[in-house]
Amino acid sequence: MAVQLGHHLRWNLPDVLQPGTPLPEIPSLCEPNSYDKEGFFDFPTRRGWYIDFAESSGPQRINRDEVPSAADKGAFLQSWLFFGMMYEVLRLLNVEVDLEDFVVRDGDGTRRCITTYPLRRYFADCTQRERAGSRIPGDSPLTDISKILRRVDSTIRRYSDTLSSGTWRLSEALSLDTVLSILVLGESLLNLAKLAMPLPGNDQSMLHGVGFFWARNPLEQRMRGAGWCISTTKMLHTLLDTTGLYYASRLRLPTHSGQQSHSNCTMQQCFANHVDESTYQTQHFEGCRGCEHISIDVEKVAKVIGQGKTPIVSINLLGADNDRPDIELEVTTSAPYVAISHVWAQGLGNAQANSLPRCQLARIKRMVCGIRPMGPMDNTSELGVWMDTLCIPVAPHLKPLRKLSIARLEETYRNADQVLVVDKDLMSASGFASRIEKATRLLCSAWMRRLWTYQEAVVSNLHPNCEKLQIQFSEGPVTFHSLCADPISLCHSETAIRSLLLALPLTGSVSFMFSTLSRALRYRTTSRQSDEAICLTAVLGHDVSKVVATDNAEERMAIFYSFIDTVPAEIIFRIAPRLQMDGYRWAPLSFLQQTTQIAAAKGLDAPRDSHGVYVTFPALRFLSISPPKNLSNHFVLGEDPGNPTIYLSSAGAKMGRTDEEWRRVVREWEEFDRVVLGSGEIALILNPSPTSQHALVSVLRKGPDETRYCRFLCLAETSSVHATSLDICGRVAIERIDAGATWCVG
Ligand SMILES: [Zn+2]
Ligand SMILES: [Zn+2]
Repeated sequence: MAVQLGHHLRWNLPDVLQPGTPLPEIPSLCEPNSYDKEGFFDFPTRRGWYIDFAESSGPQRINRDEVPSAADKGAFLQSWLFFGMMYEVLRLLNVEVDLEDFVVRDGDGTRRCITTYPLRRYFADCTQRERAGSRIPGDSPLTDISKILRRVDSTIRRYSDTLSSGTWRLSEALSLDTVLSILVLGESLLNLAKLAMPLPGNDQSMLHGVGFFWARNPLEQRMRGAGWCISTTKMLHTLLDTTGLYYASRLRLPTHSGQQSHSNCTMQQCFANHVDESTYQTQHFEGCRGCEHISIDVEKVAKVIGQGKTPIVSINLLGADNDRPDIELEVTTSAPYVAISHVWAQGLGNAQANSLPRCQLARIKRMVCGIRPMGPMDNTSELGVWMDTLCIPVAPHLKPLRKLSIARLEETYRNADQVLVVDKDLMSASGFASRIEKATRLLCSAWMRRLWTYQEAVVSNLHPNCEKLQIQFSEGPVTFHSLCADPISLCHSETAIRSLLLALPLTGSVSFMFSTLSRALRYRTTSRQSDEAICLTAVLGHDVSKVVATDNAEERMAIFYSFIDTVPAEIIFRIAPRLQMDGYRWAPLSFLQQTTQIAAAKGLDAPRDSHGVYVTFPALRFLSISPPKNLSNHFVLGEDPGNPTIYLSSAGAKMGRTDEEWRRVVREWEEFDRVVLGSGEIALILNPSPTSQHALVSVLRKGPDETRYCRFLCLAETSSVHATSLDICGRVAIERIDAGATWCVG
């Protein structure tokens, strides 16, 4: 008789409440005690195996006459990398495990599959023992643990995470799920080692850099096949470890996302939630076959906004008929309110009127009733609602009030009693799921990928512990705080939660906020580029009314930057489209959908004013420039024509696949050469990291304090000179300027 093994008993992670597929059984390919417990690194030799990474043939028998089958290799690798790693790491943490606990057998004693569930008990034992202080002082096992984990990682990656076609693949001996079971186990052990070693003086730095990071997403194909958007799979691969990624891949794709078309999405950007206002349609609640719109008293809303107050809506149900209640919207000003944060594309907006269908209003009423007020309130009154669809006038004659409302959004969300996240995917997910499941769903949600919702969340986050932010799940609201609060799980890593935390709050110096913002906004998008400056300005708490005074997206970004007096100096070397306005040519046009985030290195803050940013880097001044033989051949830098030093080229694309792409590349090169030849006095401000891009500037004037005021031209690269380049390249005589000089790049 087969043993029935519940999913929840199979692994050390919380079970997935709403899975896409059943948890696979990981076959036990070897007897658990075939790992002989005599030491990790010599195990292959003791068992007659050798592994030579220089060879592409995978594990081989020391006795060359034996030709191992794929099953032999699989059994050996599992006993070494799974059972061996588990036994040895836990032994170093003072826990003796019975490897037999990790195998499930059928009634007749045959091996059936692996379970990591008993790890929960062993892990708890381990921390208890650590707390009891049974360890010998000075005995640090972390070095040895990190060596074992690194060995497991390098072995698996050598045979899996490679593009070289001649290499033996792990997939010939182990299924993807079996490989992932080893990685998840490794990450869980790493997590335990970090948490279980709180002894004073115990340096955890040994564990830094230990990890199981793959260049490729091993679950890409599986997730795309299940309908996930390519940008989501890419984002999750960047943000999560293997445990987090595997967990995410097991979630049932939310119905709403699954129904959307992601065929136009790119690795960087999901277009599924972009809104075209001219064709936008407000949607009814699922199951409603059509009901009438109920409008708010727009003139009353306008009057309240004109008075400098926030219009608050009270949704009143009339009559006792709960299925089709009559609804009346009342505008008030002083009640505590819940501000709704929603994804426009999901149908709760309205581009034509300040109204919503009755079914949606009834649902919003139900959701808001589920929220307990945080502030003092008497028992009889209810929380009001603020929602852009109802409270920001759309009528053309009220445009000035519309702008005023947008300028006050930060204040509106800040003053809200609570902020409720309304996202279709999250509302169809259960709030009873584990913390990691809810956090992963939130991370994947459309709500996390939109620009406006970022602002709404961040300003509400200023409240201690993020307690103000509520996420609507199918049974009711869940606080963001409860997803992210301690204790961190002992049994497994929880990178989804860490990623959520990194994606929302905003702390530190203004310069540091640049990197926080660029990290938080990397995966977000907006339908209207001109909205970005509004959100950024609101998030940093500056005067949005100045930004909305113009409709031009680029001018708005310049106004946003004008509020900031310090930026990271490295910003001038960043690859990104920039503003084309005097004083702001250093400034990125956008923080959204960037491939990299702006790093804020300590001590490299640069002051900024209307002339530009003031940086002090070494530079090369161009004394004389002779043109290349043909445009697109670039330049050789060096005073001595017989002994040139470096080759200067454009930092644009170097490759094109089609003829058209190639022509564009060449055009860009020619443009670069034209810029170098035609921009007057030129200097190359040198990046402290010499292999990265430098900033090419034209020097406009020298101030009385020796500051050189310049105009940013473009990024340029340097490399050593090829002999073939000497005859065809232009020649530039240079003067070196040391690091003490100040450059104002504008
Ligand atoms: Zn998409
Ligand atoms: Zn309806």
